[in-house]
Amino acid sequence: MDIESRAVAPFFKNGFLVSSPATRAAIVIDPGDEVDELIELAEGKRLDVKAILLTHGHVDHVTGVTAARERWGVPIYLHPADRPLYDNAPAIGRMFGLEVDAPPPADHALADGDILVFGDLEVRIHHTPGHCPGGVCLELRGAGEQEPGADLIVGDTLFAGSIGRTDLPGGDTAMLLDSIRRVLFAFPAATRVHPGHGPSTTIAEERATNPFVADGV
Ligand SMILES: [Zn+2]
Ligand SMILES: [Zn+2]
Repeated sequence: MDIESRAVAPFFKNGFLVSSPATRAAIVIDPGDEVDELIELAEGKRLDVKAILLTHGHVDHVTGVTAARERWGVPIYLHPADRPLYDNAPAIGRMFGLEVDAPPPADHALADGDILVFGDLEVRIHHTPGHCPGGVCLELRGAGEQEPGADLIVGDTLFAGSIGRTDLPGGDTAMLLDSIRRVLFAFPAATRVHPGHGPSTTIAEERATNPFVADGV
């Protein structure tokens, strides 16, 4: 499985392109202002993009959804608790002084425990509220694999050395800490963690050193 990310100003939010080298099946996660780079990357590798998945509805994670949808015509997946954030992206964008087009409506409601299969890629949905009500983490597996996925796309739930902010509407610090400890820290130590901003890390690294959630904190 190939996992590539791109990030551009002003948010430097990571947009992901996950693909299977064997079948070229692919999914796009959180397309934002870097969407043109993701499209170019996918076209260069002649990928068969099958879906747009959103870790949550914050404006920095959705500004490229319209372009991605126009390019590939594939369904959009979002947790319903973040529909208000998603549907109000233009108004929220204006609060940050940004011109944001209304994204096309989400097609599918994600729920905790969902197992989505796109070609030979499998995505398991883990609801991890706290940064926002409808935040989810995406566990990536090869289809039919029995072992827990080696890669987690965690949106703004957990960062290398930090955690998502909880001062925005719908944020809840106790809930976020519970999501990280109960859901994410249940994964094997070697699991790779791909946050919505900044570099990738591992469950082991964050359990040992993250000042907000390390074991013993
Ligand atoms: Zn966010
Ligand atoms: Zn973000």
